[in-house]
Amino acid sequence: MEKRLAEIRNQIALCEKPGQDVLLIAVSKNCSIAQIEEAYNLGLRDFGENKVQELLEKIDNISAPINWHFIGHLQTNKVKYIVGRVCLIHSVDSIKLLREIDKEAMKKNIIVDVLLEVNVSLEESKYGFRVEELDSALHVAETLSFVRVKGLMTMAPHSANEDCLKLIFTSLHEKFIDINDQKLDNIEMTVLSMGMSRDYKEAILCGSNCVRIGTYIFKG
Ligand SMILES: *Cc1c(COP(=O)(O)O)cnc(C)c1O
Repeated sequence: MEKRLAEIRNQIALCEKPGQDVLLIAVSKNCSIAQIEEAYNLGLRDFGENKVQELLEKIDNISAPINWHFIGHLQTNKVKYIVGRVCLIHSVDSIKLLREIDKEAMKKNIIVDVLLEVNVSLEESKYGFRVEELDSALHVAETLSFVRVKGLMTMAPHSANEDCLKLIFTSLHEKFIDINDQKLDNIEMTVLSMGMSRDYKEAILCGSNCVRIGTYIFKG
């Protein structure tokens, strides 16, 4: 793991432009607590999980001060279990979910940071707003007092070739800049979460500042 992590960090540094500070999130789904602790001891502090139950078990059994990220599809009836327990929810994919997070955050009197998940290519992935739906989601988010939209997230399809990846990542980066320029209430575009084991280099070259890597860290 040490060798692979050094390679990833090196590749990230090679792809970053000046001022583009990329956050590496270790996606620890299906990994053991021992593996997470090993990664923590190699300096990783941000970990991503995609299932509520698995996330909660890990939070309860690891004492290290980890920044937990929720990156999977979230059902509205499970929102109450993770609000207040993660630093960022990357995968808000409906207005209903946005409202539910606001409601639970209000009960706990906290502000919850979220990203809107965008389905850019409309292939494979079932989840995420279409690009045309983003404006209406943002207008709802503007009216909510307990959620703060901090950016956008996407997953590129497995089948995408390099040109296709570039198209997807560049178009989301443009949207990210465009939304930021609108200066909406409650909305600051600071996190652009795109890039996984197979495509993180392309994503960073297209403007990502947050990559979510699982396989390449934990399985090689
Ligand atoms: C599993 C997962 C990742 C990590 O994928 P790898 O190919 O293992 O790097 C990133 N983002 C999401 C949303 C995931 O579910």
